Amino acid sequence: MMIRELAELRKRVSELESLAAAHETPKDARAERFRELVENCADWMWEIDAQGRFTYSSPKIKALLGYEPEEIIGKSPCDLMPPVEANRLAPGFEQRLRSEKPFERLENVHLHKDGRWIILETSGVPILDEAGHCRGYRGVGRDVTRRKHEEAILQRGLQGFDRLLKGKHAELEKINRDLMQEISLRAKAEEAASEAERRLETVLDAAVNLSVVATDPLGTITLFNKGAEQILGFSADEVVGKETTLLIHLPSELADLAADMSRKAGRKLRPIDSLRMLAESATNETVAWTYVRKDGTQVPVDVTYAVIRDRLGETTGYMELAQDVTERKLVETEVAAARARAEKANQAKSEFLAVMSHEIRTPINGVIGMTELVLDTDLTEQQREYLALVKSSAKALLSVVNDILDFSKIESGKLELDDTEWDLRARLAETLSPLEISASAKGLRLLLQVAPDVPPLVAGDSGRLHQVIVNLVSNAIKFTEAGKVVVSVDLQSETPEGAIFHFAIQDTGIGITPDKQRVIFDAFTQADASTTRIFGGTGLGLAISRRLVEMMGGHLWVESDLGRGSRFHFTVNFRVHWNASPPAERQGTPAPGPLASMAAPKRSLRILLAEGNPINRDLAQYLLQRRGHVVTLAEDADQVIAALANHEFDLILMDVHTLGFDGLETTDAIRVGAGPSDRHIPIVAMTAHATKSDRERCLAAGMDGYIAKPVLAKDLFDTIESLVEKQR
Ligand code: ADP
Repeated sequence: MMIRELAELRKRVSELESLAAAHETPKDARAERFRELVENCADWMWEIDAQGRFTYSSPKIKALLGYEPEEIIGKSPCDLMPPVEANRLAPGFEQRLRSEKPFERLENVHLHKDGRWIILETSGVPILDEAGHCRGYRGVGRDVTRRKHEEAILQRGLQGFDRLLKGKHAELEKINRDLMQEISLRAKAEEAASEAERRLETVLDAAVNLSVVATDPLGTITLFNKGAEQILGFSADEVVGKETTLLIHLPSELADLAADMSRKAGRKLRPIDSLRMLAESATNETVAWTYVRKDGTQVPVDVTYAVIRDRLGETTGYMELAQDVTERKLVETEVAAARARAEKANQAKSEFLAVMSHEIRTPINGVIGMTELVLDTDLTEQQREYLALVKSSAKALLSVVNDILDFSKIESGKLELDDTEWDLRARLAETLSPLEISASAKGLRLLLQVAPDVPPLVAGDSGRLHQVIVNLVSNAIKFTEAGKVVVSVDLQSETPEGAIFHFAIQDTGIGITPDKQRVIFDAFTQADASTTRIFGGTGLGLAISRRLVEMMGGHLWVESDLGRGSRFHFTVNFRVHWNASPPAERQGTPAPGPLASMAAPKRSLRILLAEGNPINRDLAQYLLQRRGHVVTLAEDADQVIAALANHEFDLILMDVHTLGFDGLETTDAIRVGAGPSDRHIPIVAMTAHATKSDRERCLAAGMDGYIAKPVLAKDLFDTIESLVEKQR
């Protein structure tokens, strides 16, 4: 390039000179044109005389070395060089001057006025006079510092390479190998990176069940994968860069979210801000959310939010990954339905058990009643003994069946609690008096301690309280050989409508080990299988008691010292009228003993007994006749109506549940005219389930009272006699 330029330059200079000569332009004008030419040239132009002193410098010197042209006139080129370069050059320079030959591309270090080293590449031609003597040189120079610098670096590298090539072949090979390896690794990494990218793209596209929507920091959608297209019905083209994520969210949910987030943030947030906040605060948790499709339909999704950040941690956008959970929701509802069916089946099972137990109870009751009747007659000692055994076996069987019935009723949620008002102390005495008999038979004392602040009248289910106490006290007696059983009651706390009563049943018996204490409240569990053989029982008593107590708003628990005794505690919540005093007739009246009501009736009654089941019918008939009443039997509705037409009765006992005989309908018929027209004849229902709704149905049908089956003598007599008494 340089050579060509120089040649060109030279050519042009001589052209100009010859042109000037040809036109005989005055010398001054020629010089002027020459100056113009050189001053506009990109290179530095100079002239030196035969002694090597500058006689001319183009202004370019200022740009190259910082000098004004005048400053260097009279100086030698060596004066513009650092001493080391000047010394190196000086001898050759003189020689060159004398040689009178052109020179090209000499590189020399020069010193800039500010101290920098500048490498100038110079070329020059001798200036010859008419006689052909050399009067000096003229030429050009240019700054090649930068190029030299780069060349030097390259050169050093090349030299190093050269050295290696020559001396260190093995090392070179290693370097080569390393280099190759690095290259291949880098290639692989690049390949892997693009592979990962491709894979990510493939995943994004293949995940048709996963909607991936990314947005910029302001919420505008920047990515909308195939899954999002599939799930939401928008195409990526429709939304990317055009819509915000608000488009795919359910407005009402967004409003709720915004309200929630605003509350947390303490300032009002727009829905898009709240979504952003959700992403910022998300910890990989899934949010159940509803997306809205293009066609406006909704789709339940599980969404995970993420923040997209650059290398420096700056948020560059947000991403929501959503899974369509329609199917799962469907499965969930199916599972729920299946569970409901299973629960229903379970309940049906419990109901079946309850009905079965009832069906078993009826004949057992027949056995017990009949045995009692036979025991009342003249018998040999042996017959009496056998029959007593029949009776106690039947009673044990009945109590098992009763337990199972209760348990299944509780399990199926069928057990309803009574809510009547009664005298707590009297009821407790009544409950404990039969138990006292079995306690004293074992030589145990049974004590009752009622705290003075316990209110006299409470309202709740006295029957269920009775059942729990009987169960706990029977166990205490059963598992105690000597000492005493103490039943105590105190007030734990008062509530506006009532009070929590605390009962404790303490014995001095065998006790229960700590691990058994944990299981005895489970159904069908006994502390020790060996005690079962000795003491009998179903292992249901405590399970039932605990459930009953819980239904009455309390708890049942135990404390026990093995070998020293047990203390069962329970609490119940009863309503209390704090200001009420016990009714006058109950005050001072001793609690009726269990046999009190078995005393002879005041008056013999004419009773129509309508009962479909022959055993029940016979039993009730015997009981009533032994009490001195006159009994007429009816097996179905027709017989009832016929009997009523022909005889006078003081009372009707009416079965409600036997198949083929509807006591409710028959009652209805009596009340609308089939019965006596002059007076109201009391009708007492004998109901099997004795639930509240059952009783209400009986009363609504026009009956006056009810007794639960299997019929107990005391219940039967109390109910019919008090009803007839009321009639008078
Ligand atoms: P069961 O009808 O078999 O007595 P429970 O549920 O009433 O069933 O009692 C379960 C078990 O708890 C009993 O078999 C017995 O081992 C133990 N248990 C209950 N009460 C006492 C007590 N007062 N002393 C010792 N063990 C008891």
